[in-house]
Parts: sequence; C-alpha cells; structure tokens
Amino acid sequence: MDNFVVSARKYRPATFNSVVGQSALTTTLKNAIKSKHLAHAYLFCGPRGVGKTTCARIFAKAINCENLTPDFEACDCCESCVSFNQQRSYNIHELDAASNNGVDDIRSLIEQVRIPPQIGKYSVYIIDEVHMLSTGAFNAFLKTLEEPPAHAVFILATTEKHKIIPTILSRCQIYDFNRISIQDTIEYLQYVARNESVEIDSNALSIIAQKSDGGMRDALSVFDQIVSFCGKTVSYQDVIDNLNVLDYDYHFRLTEAFLQGGVSESLLIFNEILNKGFDGHQFISGLSSHFRDLLVSKDEQTIVLLDVGSDIAKRYKAQAQKCSAEFLFQALKISNDCDLNYRQSKNKRLLVELTLIRLCQLCGEKKNDLNLNEVKAPIQKTENIPAGPKVSPPTPAGGITETQQTRSVSQGAEQLFTAVKPKETSPHPTSLRSPGRISINADQSAPSDTTKATGSQTPKSSQNTPFTAEELSRAWLKFSETISDEVWMVNFFNTTTPLLLSENHFEIKATNQLQEKELMRMQTDIQDFIRKELNNSFVRMTIKLEESEEKLRSSSPEDIYKSMVAKNPALAKLRHNLNMEID
Ligand SMILES: [Zn+2]
Repeated sequence: MDNFVVSARKYRPATFNSVVGQSALTTTLKNAIKSKHLAHAYLFCGPRGVGKTTCARIFAKAINCENLTPDFEACDCCESCVSFNQQRSYNIHELDAASNNGVDDIRSLIEQVRIPPQIGKYSVYIIDEVHMLSTGAFNAFLKTLEEPPAHAVFILATTEKHKIIPTILSRCQIYDFNRISIQDTIEYLQYVARNESVEIDSNALSIIAQKSDGGMRDALSVFDQIVSFCGKTVSYQDVIDNLNVLDYDYHFRLTEAFLQGGVSESLLIFNEILNKGFDGHQFISGLSSHFRDLLVSKDEQTIVLLDVGSDIAKRYKAQAQKCSAEFLFQALKISNDCDLNYRQSKNKRLLVELTLIRLCQLCGEKKNDLNLNEVKAPIQKTENIPAGPKVSPPTPAGGITETQQTRSVSQGAEQLFTAVKPKETSPHPTSLRSPGRISINADQSAPSDTTKATGSQTPKSSQNTPFTAEELSRAWLKFSETISDEVWMVNFFNTTTPLLLSENHFEIKATNQLQEKELMRMQTDIQDFIRKELNNSFVRMTIKLEESEEKLRSSSPEDIYKSMVAKNPALAKLRHNLNMEID
C-alpha cells in the first residue's frame, strides 16, 4: 500500500500560479522578481492556512532559480530548484518562532545569516509566527534587520500583525493575505477530489469550505478526514453529520415559516435542531448570518459579499426575492439582540423561542397560531401615580408612535409567553393603578385597559437617539440627585448600575421587595427622566427582583399576597377597597 500523504502536503502549491485565492499578491511578488527589486524583509500577514509559508517557499525557490520561466516561475530543473524540491537546499532556513522564541534562537540564526550561500544568490530566512518572539529576541533581531548582508532575505510570517512592534513593521514590505473565498475553496477541493477519484458534490464541498473558514490547509485536512471515514463516495448528509454542521436547509425552512407567520412551525423546527444536539447560541448566530446573506443577495451590488458556493447562492437569491428589505433589517436586529443577550439569559431556550415568535410577527399576522395579536402592548400607567420624586415628566409617559406600538405587540408576546407557561390560562389580571400591586407578574407586564387610551394620545414626534450603557448610568445617577427625601433610596441609586438588555431596554435589580416596591412607584418618573436625559422616548425600564426573593414568589399568589400583607398591612385594606381578587 502506498504511504498516505495528507492532501494539505500533497497538494501544496509549488508555483505562484497554483496558489489559490491570492492572485493579487502573487502577481506583486512575481513583478518584484521581474524587476529585480527585492526587499530585504517581507512580512506576510493573514489568517492561518491561507498560504503564507507556501508563498514564502515558492518565492525563495524562484529568486534562486537559475533560469526562470518566461512567466517568472521557478524552472524546477536547475540545480537550485532540484535541491529545493528534494528539501536539501541550503538557501532556505525556516524558524518556527512559536517554539524557538528566545534570544539564543535568534542569535544562532543571526550567526548563519553572515554566511553567503554556495549555490544560488540568496539565503532566505523564513520566521513563522514571528509575533511569538520574546522582546529580547525581537531586539536582537532588529540590528540584523537594519543592516542585513546583501544575500539575505527575511520573510516573516504572522497571523497577528498587531503584535509586531513598529520598528520591525517599518523595515518590512507588508503583504496581507486574504481568507480564501468559499467558491475558490470549493473549486480547489473539486480538483483534489478528481485527482483522488473521490465522488463528492459541490454542496458537500461547500460545507467543508464553510467549516474551514477561509483556510485551505484546514479545508484539505477536513476533506481527508471525511474521505477516510466515508470512503470514495461522500454525500452531503455524510458531511453534515460528520462535521456537526447545521444544515443550511433549516435556515431556509425557518425563514419560509417566518414569512408565513408560522409560529408553531418555527418552534417545532427549533426543537428538531435542539434534538439533533445543536446549541441554541450556535443556531441563533447561524440564523443571523442567514439573514445577512439574504440581505446581501437582494442587491446586485452587494451580492459579491455573499461567500457561499454557487448552488447555494442560487437558493439565497431565490429566497431573498421573497423577503422585503424591511423584514430583513428587522429580522437581523431581532436575531442579533438574541445573540447579544444569550449569555446572560437564564432561560436560553425561551429566549430563542421568543425571538422566533417575534420573527414570525414581522410579516403581518397572517395566521398566527397563538393568537398573539390579541396581546396588547405593555404600557406604563400614567394616572394616579402618587407624588414621587420632584421631576416634571418631560414627554407624556406613553410616548409611543405607531411603529413603537407594533413593536410593543411583540413585547407583549414575550410577556404572554412567560405568563402562559406556569399556568394554563389566566384571565385578565387585575390591573392596579396604585403603588402596592398584587398582580404577581408585577412590573408593567399586565395588559392594562389603559393601553388604548395612552396609545391614541401618542405624540407623533418621538426621538430615538441611540445611547451607551455609560450614558445610561450617568442619567441614572443624575436621577438620584432629584431624590431628596429618602437616604436609603439615594444610596440604592448610587450603588446600582442599570443593566442594558437591548437597545432601549434596561433592567434594575432590586435586592428586596421593599426596594422593588419603591422602584415600581417611581418607575414612570425614572423612565421619563431618563428618556429626556438620553433624548430617547423609547427607553423602557423593567425591575427585577433578585433570585432569592424571586423564589418566595414562585410559591402561590395567595402566599405571596399574605407575605406582602405581613410587611405592609395597608395592602389588605387597599385590596378590599378596590375589590380585587388574587389571580
Ligand atoms: Zn530553477
């Protein structure tokens, strides 16, 4: 049996022309050889496995070749070329700085540099992963780099250009290597597959290319791996299963469901994905990329940004035709929000499911299986707020425009979903207009009958200035200056940082129920104040009780009511006066 040679070595390019995906760069190198303008030091930067060392070797061989081809490639038959091919050339020295990064390693290299080559004109020194050199080694190397002997050419390669000190950078000609595009990778893999008589279709190769993320070396070793596992005939499904890649098809199917408003269908697809062992975060970032790819496929000008195989590109184009740009913008935003919040979410699955529901709501409510349309926007109550801190409300509290209202519907869905989970149905929770509230899902989530009223009084001019977490914190602290009466409240404000959950939504953690209650009382004032400070009328604040306290609540509404009454007997009276029931 033949010795198995890994494809990455067997198919390592030996000429400039066979290097994949770096044509601009290889042309420049060839031109340098043509015009005999060789620099003493080159810096090859770029991701791993894109051909930096390969190009360095081809370059070393070419500049030593005794009779270059008319195309300025090495001839492959002169003495120098032969010794290169047999890997016994003394004109090339490679140092891997990842494992030899000390001053002594560099010193022994510098010693060698002085000795002129016996055959050929140049001694080429390739230092791989040059950013790994210690500071001492860098400094020792600097002198040689400043005044190198005429025969020496240095090629420094790195994946991390930003770690190279400026004194080195300024002495090198810098070449930036690109990631290799998916299509280029596919084509090269097709060539390798033909040579190895492996049967594999382009969709399967496209998955391999995608997985290798622009590195040809990785692509080839993944290819080897798959072939050694599946034999000479490889199907798309084999590749998907072996590489644990989420099938493109899921994203296409889901998008189809979003366009139809198919909440149930999308939840089921997501369930299927989880059952296959995929992680929710991986899924959601994949979905974001899918929307992004659809967006760039919509426009002839941006279609060049679509980096997929040609067969899948057709599918993207077709689906992009069905999606409005508006839908894609919103979808990207929603999925990206989910991606950002994923890590800190306590119920990750629910977070993703809510995201899917929101996505389904984007395209009108054609057939919303969960009847989400009925959910009204959660709106801050404005009436009968007892005298809070002395702040004049800048904009009417429910400053909501039409677009905001539609958005609120989806937020309503969020709460519906949470509300539905523990209990099957809860008829309209009693909405309270007073500070001491009994409703358990507390804060502002209770769909209130004030919704419509506030909604229609909406001023048309609303601001939506983006803000940072820092600006939010400043506004928050500024609010504390307006509280004069209660010292503990001022302390609370000064020691609490608002947590920005999404673009316009922040959360305040209360450590006990008293704090929570006070915050609820001041909620509208705080929110109004911050809206004004940040010039953003969409800012929304929610209050969250810390976990240990939360547990208390999860008992039963009745129990909680009792414990609340124990702390504040006035509640019982209030409840009696308003004739309220505990749901
Ligand atoms: Zn030659």
